This record gives sequence, structure tokens and C-alpha cells, in this order.
Amino acid sequence: MLPVLDGLKKTALDLLFPLRCIECSKEGNLICDNCHKRLAWITPPVCPFCGVNKPLDTSCKNCPTFEPAIDGIRSPFRFEGTIRSAVHRLKYRNLRAIAIPLAAMMADFLIDNPLPYDIIIPVPLHHKRLRERGYNQSELLAKEINKLTAVQMEKDCLVRHRHTPAQAMTESIQERHSNLAGAFTCKNECVQDKKVLLIDDVATSVATLDACAKALKSGGAVSVWGLALARDIR
Ligand SMILES: [Zn+2]
Ligand SMILES: [Zn+2]
Repeated sequence: MLPVLDGLKKTALDLLFPLRCIECSKEGNLICDNCHKRLAWITPPVCPFCGVNKPLDTSCKNCPTFEPAIDGIRSPFRFEGTIRSAVHRLKYRNLRAIAIPLAAMMADFLIDNPLPYDIIIPVPLHHKRLRERGYNQSELLAKEINKLTAVQMEKDCLVRHRHTPAQAMTESIQERHSNLAGAFTCKNECVQDKKVLLIDDVATSVATLDACAKALKSGGAVSVWGLALARDIR
């Protein structure tokens, strides 16, 4: 479609179905300025490895006891409140448009908290889950971050082989880690000598991102950092 027609179509749609804030229903944006200010931001001090809040001069209870493959993880938000319902709508209610403001917040976070990267890779879904949902929410976020940062995004290089069960509350960090070992592989050369930024929607533990990092480093990546929109710390 011609850009001008595309623009007109968008304006018509905006008039018919104006965007409303998912939290307070104010018209204009999916997350209004007021609710944006009240999001569950993670503020310093954070653990230099896993990026969750921790008191100064204490060891981090969230960090793995095994030697991780991933270089570190950062997240702008805790998985609660408006962010939690935003992710829920993105994943289960087909509100794909919310990837745009969420990715914009991740890109802003990267400006304030620079990480080393020259390629963006979304955490892949198993093809069975991808078929059920129709899209990979992490890929939607990565695509938007790619538009905003102009850094190359590669979605077909990392593959998820195993349909891993939802992480049980009782699972220890070690158990999650061994459940995920070998769940991902790198199928081409695209990360050779690259600094990778892995994009995830919600990181519950270090395990998934670490399993991805292991595969990417076997594929020749020189460093792998994880950026998850939100952290679900249990
Ligand atoms: Zn609002
Ligand atoms: Zn930590």
C-alpha cells in the first residue's frame, strides 16, 4: 500500500477505534503518560550480573550457582501491575500493537543502560507453541527494537528444539537449568564473532537466557547479554 494510503487507513482506524490505556482507559495511547510514570521500574542498586534489585554489599540470592554462559541480564521492569497485564495482552489476547510502546521503553532503557551488542536475537518459541499462538511475542519486541536502534535483528538463527514444560514454582534453579540444557541450537553462522543481545518478554530465572547463550556461544558469539522487558522474581 502507498504510504499516504497507509497513513489514511491508520487515521481512519484511530478515529473508529481510538487507542486506550490498558490501565486507566484514557484515550490516546496503550499506556498513557500517567500510568507510564507509575510502572514497576527496577531502580539501582541492581546485581551487576543478573540485574535484579539487591542491597549493596550483599551477595545476590537470584544469581545462579553454576558457571553461566550468559554475560549478564538487564530488565527495565518487575513483572507486576500494568507491565504484567501488558505482557498478558501481548501473549494471550493478541494485542500485538502493545509491542510498540513496550519495545520503545526497552530501547530507551538501552540508551540509559548501554549493553554491548551488534545483533539482536529474540528468544525463540518451540514451533508447536508458535503455531498455537501465531506469533512470537519476543520477536515482536525485537522487531520494534530493531526499527528504533537500526541494529540488525536475526530471528532464524537460534532454534528451540524442546517444548519445555512451564516452570513449576517448586523447581530449583539447578532443575530449571538441567531441564533446558540442549533445548536450543544455533543453526547458522550468523552470530560468528558477534556481540548478541537476546530479547525476551519475561525472564523468570537465568536458565532460559543462559541456555540460549550457551547455544549462541557454541555458534561463535563473542558475548551474549539478555534484555528482558520484565523480571518475575519468585
Ligand atoms: Zn493510563
Ligand atoms: Zn544476581
